[in-house]
Amino acid sequence: MNQSSPPRHAVVIGGSLAGLLAAAVLAEHATVTVIDADPLPEGPAPRRGLPQARHTHLLWSGGARAIERILPGITDDWTKAGAIRRSLPTDLVTKTAQGWIPRCGEKQFNISCSRDLLDSVVRARVTGLAGVTTLQQSRVRGLEGTAARVTGVRVDTPEEQDRLVTADLVVDASGRGSRARTWLQALGVSGIRQAEVDSGLVYATRIFEAPAGAHEMGFPIVNVQSDPRVPVPGQTATIVPIENGQWQATLSGTRGGQPAGDPDAFIPFAKSVRDPIVGELLEGRKPLTDVAVTQGTANRRIYFEKAELPDGFFAVGDSVATFNPLYGQGMTVAAQGLLAVRTLLRAKGLAHPGIGREAQRVIAPQVATAWELATSQDILYPGATGMKPRAGTGLLNGYVNRLMTGATTDEALTAALFNVLTMSIEPTHWLRPSVVWHVARASDRGALKAPPLTAAERAVAGLDPAPGTRTGAGSTGTGAGTGAAPTGAASDPVGPADPVGQAR
Ligand SMILES: Cc1cc2nc3c(=O)[nH]c(=O)nc-3n(C[C@H](O)[C@H](O)[C@H](O)COP(=O)(O)OP(=O)(O)OC[C@H]3O[C@@H](n4cnc5c(N)ncnc54)[C@H](O)[C@@H]3O)c2cc1C
Repeated sequence: MNQSSPPRHAVVIGGSLAGLLAAAVLAEHATVTVIDADPLPEGPAPRRGLPQARHTHLLWSGGARAIERILPGITDDWTKAGAIRRSLPTDLVTKTAQGWIPRCGEKQFNISCSRDLLDSVVRARVTGLAGVTTLQQSRVRGLEGTAARVTGVRVDTPEEQDRLVTADLVVDASGRGSRARTWLQALGVSGIRQAEVDSGLVYATRIFEAPAGAHEMGFPIVNVQSDPRVPVPGQTATIVPIENGQWQATLSGTRGGQPAGDPDAFIPFAKSVRDPIVGELLEGRKPLTDVAVTQGTANRRIYFEKAELPDGFFAVGDSVATFNPLYGQGMTVAAQGLLAVRTLLRAKGLAHPGIGREAQRVIAPQVATAWELATSQDILYPGATGMKPRAGTGLLNGYVNRLMTGATTDEALTAALFNVLTMSIEPTHWLRPSVVWHVARASDRGALKAPPLTAAERAVAGLDPAPGTRTGAGSTGTGAGTGAAPTGAASDPVGPADPVGQAR
């Protein structure tokens, strides 16, 4: 904190991932009060205000790097607490719309664990920072101030209804159900636009006991994706091995093909998607939970940055935009946005006039990128509602389709795919000459025909050994599915165009 300026106070509404990261960033400039409607647990425990934590939450490397920069050492803290850092695509068996991806050496990574564990580690770090305090079991009911300046919040605490908490800056991180637009309207701020694209996606998740030895051997994530090019409801099935030797299995389906909460229908659904492998792996496993179902997963974006916002306010995380969870973008977008806010605050300070509006603007590019990636696919599913694709989207989708086809056989394109998917590099990366060159030659000749599980992984899971999996010659092959281990750390053939330093 700058000792020469008067003491400043910031309020963060919401003590989940975005709110905690916002608090860490603001603590360099002010004392911070994080207000949450829930009691915040000491360790990894479920809570009412975070119902989505029952479902698979993958943190991509783009987000993990951003959080690591805000909270140095957090990756070690996560892994010490039981999270698994997985190399991508080495530790991933995935069938994209275009086919199975070979498990070549690390291009990017993710952090796999339950959302409760992920948050608990961040919470322990942030609440331990000097100047950060929490106001728990306290629900914010509105903003205090005028259309020109927000000066605090009104909050119902266990001791007092409608208490005023004053602040130089208020950050709304109250998530998908945020009422910030209504609160701002009450101050006289109008014209805050909202957009929505909804494929009707429903998520269903159940945790199973992993087979003996699976955790120790580093069993991969297994995932079968849908194909938005085919005009049928998109259905997916995924197993994410998480802490404590558990498999978190998630099914999803768009309008007309949604999974239900019926436990007896869980494995049959998993077997009915574009490949039955997830259902086969779950067969006979002991369920540890009921089936949790979540509806209402629409992409929704509020254009705060385009409105005449009052000074002393900005919004971040799901409060600004929610994305179809299948793309795993939400936490990464929040973290990258807050890293950009940190840079801004370090340059200009919290007292700078209009700092809230500027913060809102520096958050917007990350949101826009994720929004384009998610909505351009989701709108293609039958019954999807929302804005129609912009002119030229078809052409772009054609190019991306070709790139993803090439990613099934050409390691350079596998790298390009994961660089963008994990939000480590901007999508414009795909238009670099080195990538375009490979896309022009993209082919699925030699692509894998079956899930690339090794013989050892199949044995641990109790599956029969796999037959040969390749279609022909010319592959950059892994030998996966034929009993050979994945190829391990290969060099990035896209080469100098993609230095690690450019990763966000
Ligand atoms: C089914 C599903 C699966 C997902 N999977 C992934 C994934 O794999 N990867 C990924 O990156 N993202 C995923 N997401 C998105 C991710 O959950 C969100 O992007 C992330 O939680 C956003 O964090 P947040 O802090 O903005 O909001 P939230 O995590 O929703 O937290 C909001 C907080 O605000 C509090 N709150 C709300 N209202 C008030 C109030 N009035 N006063 C005080 N406190 C309040 C709540 O108690 C809560 O703690 C998924 C989402 C869903 C729905």
